[in-house]
Amino acid sequence: MVAVSERMLSRHMLMVLYDVLVCEIMVERTSLDGAVSIVTGAGGDIGTGIALELAAAGSDIVIADVDVLETEYNQQSTQEVSGATRAQEVADDIEAHGQRAHVIECDVTKPKQVDAMVEETVSEFGTLDLLVNNAGVITVTPVEEMADAEWDSIMDVNAKGVFLASRAAIPHLREAEGSIINTASIAGDIGAAGLGHYCASKHAVIGLTKSLSLELAPDVTVNAICPGIVQTPMWEDVLTPELDEPYEETIERVIPMGRDQTPEDMGRTAVFLAENRNITGQAVTVDGGILQNVI
Ligand code: NAD
Repeated sequence: MVAVSERMLSRHMLMVLYDVLVCEIMVERTSLDGAVSIVTGAGGDIGTGIALELAAAGSDIVIADVDVLETEYNQQSTQEVSGATRAQEVADDIEAHGQRAHVIECDVTKPKQVDAMVEETVSEFGTLDLLVNNAGVITVTPVEEMADAEWDSIMDVNAKGVFLASRAAIPHLREAEGSIINTASIAGDIGAAGLGHYCASKHAVIGLTKSLSLELAPDVTVNAICPGIVQTPMWEDVLTPELDEPYEETIERVIPMGRDQTPEDMGRTAVFLAENRNITGQAVTVDGGILQNVI
C-alpha cells in the first residue's frame, strides 16, 4: 500500500516537473522579453496594431513615422499626414503598459534619415532585434494616365523604403540573431486595375523578402505579412470611394470569412513570426480567404 502511494507520489512529482519544464521552454521560446523592435509607419493603423502586440509580447518599441511627406501621392492626398504625432500617442500607450517606447521622425525614402533611425535605436536601447517595414502609401490611377512622380512615390515608400531600412539594420540584426518582417499585401500576389504601381511595389517587397531570407540565413529570419482588407485610410479615403460601394458590401462580397481583418491580426502574426526561428522567406497571407475566392 505504502509502495503504491510512493509510486503514485513520484509519478505525480514527475508530471509536475514536466509541466514546469515545458512551461519554461515555452516561455523561453515565445517571449519577446528584452527585444527591441523598430516599426515604421506605426503612427498608422496596422503599424499601431503591430507595435502594440509586439509590446504586449515584451518588446521595447521604436516607432518611426513622419508628420510631413514630400508629395501628395498617398492615401491622405496631402503632405501633412501627422504620422509622427500619432506615433507619440502610441508610444505613450505602450509606456503606460510598462514597455519602453521611443518615436523617431523618419522618412523611409531618405537614406540618411533611415541610417540615423537605426543608429539612434541602437544607441538608445543597446540592440536591435526586429525591424518591421510597415510604412506604405497608395493611390489609384491607370498606368496610361500615371505621372512619373506618382509611380516613383509609391515605389519609393513601399519598396525602396524596405530596402533602405533593411540595409541599415542588417549588421545589428545579424548580431542579435533577429528578424525582419515586411508588411506586403495581397496586392503582392495578384494584379488590380488602377493599382499597377502599388501591386508592383508589393510584388517587389515579397521578392526582396525571399532573397533576403537567403542572404541573411542562418542569422536573421525574413518574412512578409500580406494583409487582406483592413479598415484604414487606404480603404476609407482611397479604395472604398474608388469602388463606389459601401465598405461593408465589399467585405461581404469578397471575404469568404465574412469579416475584415484587423491591425491586431497583423500584430499577432508579427509576434508569431518574430518568435519562430524556423520560418523564413515566407509571405503569410492574412485575408480571411480573399485570394481563394476566385470563382
Ligand atoms: P495607414 O495610412 O494607416 O498607415 C501608413 C503609415 O505610413 C502612416 O502613418 C504614414 O504616415 C506612414 N508613412 C507614409 N509614408 C511614409 C514615409 N515615407 N516614411 C515613414 N512613414 C511613412 O495605412 P495602413 O493601412 O495601416 O498601411 C500599413 C501597411 O499595410 C502599408 O504598407 C500598406 O500597404 C499595408 N496594407 C494595408 C492594407 C489595408 O487594407 N489597409 C492591406 C494590405 C496591405
